Amino acid sequence: MPGYESDRFVGLSVADIQELSCSICLNVFRDPVVSQCCRQTFCRDCITDWLRENAACPYDRKTLTVNELHKPPRVFEVMFGKLEIKCQFSSNGCPSVVPLDQLSQHVDSCPYDASKCGKCFCEQTSGHDCIQALLALNRTANNEIKTLNLKLDSYMTRVLYAVNIPQPSTSIPVSIESILTTARSERFNAVIFGCDMKDDFRHKVLVIVAEELMNDIQLGKVCKNIVHKLDQKFGGYWNCICDHKDGVSRYFTYLNGSWIRCKIGQLTFDIYK
Ligand SMILES: [Zn+2]
Ligand SMILES: [Zn+2]
Ligand SMILES: [Zn+2]
Ligand SMILES: [Zn+2]
Repeated sequence: MPGYESDRFVGLSVADIQELSCSICLNVFRDPVVSQCCRQTFCRDCITDWLRENAACPYDRKTLTVNELHKPPRVFEVMFGKLEIKCQFSSNGCPSVVPLDQLSQHVDSCPYDASKCGKCFCEQTSGHDCIQALLALNRTANNEIKTLNLKLDSYMTRVLYAVNIPQPSTSIPVSIESILTTARSERFNAVIFGCDMKDDFRHKVLVIVAEELMNDIQLGKVCKNIVHKLDQKFGGYWNCICDHKDGVSRYFTYLNGSWIRCKIGQLTFDIYK
């Protein structure tokens, strides 16, 4: 393809246009290349076509082949790409003026391209049935959503978990301090109530719980520190709930393979993500 018609450029002087014109097509360079012999610039297509018929540079008549055509310096390319040019469909009414290096992107989606349908996003030629095209698009999207939902279902396990352990009829008030003291002494003797974790992973989690029981005297902070360590070591968004009422009536959802309920002393932990 020959160069761009010079009247499509905005804000270029006659002298500028002369500087930027290809001596073969006399238009402004399109995909400019530089000859090795005399460092003249031409449109890539113009000089390539020329060299098919002639084995010499059109400017100085020295021997020249396509392998001796080079890209212009980067600084030139950058400046050249910033030239403002009218859309090629301006005669169809497109008002757009864009930097040259964004022209092809604009043209691809220009609604004034009369060869394409301007009513929908269908990339089809004008005059086609837009409604049918959009319905087909919608069908494809719906199928994708169905597939994704199926994947999600197999990934998440919904657990409605309620443990009903009879409460002692005489409730003796116990202090949090004494609960923590018991839990600390029992920290390596966790009783597993329920678990969806691989053995070695469960072991690592229980080690973290044991460590964190020793690191803070506030149970809320113990939970927070456990979560922090799990997030750091294993990734994801972990949760840790703990109480001294056997975890009665807790409802939550967890990701397959990442839940444990254990009792340490009087403390019941649910740890999951
Ligand atoms: Zn040219
Ligand atoms: Zn030359
Ligand atoms: Zn346009
Ligand atoms: Zn359409």
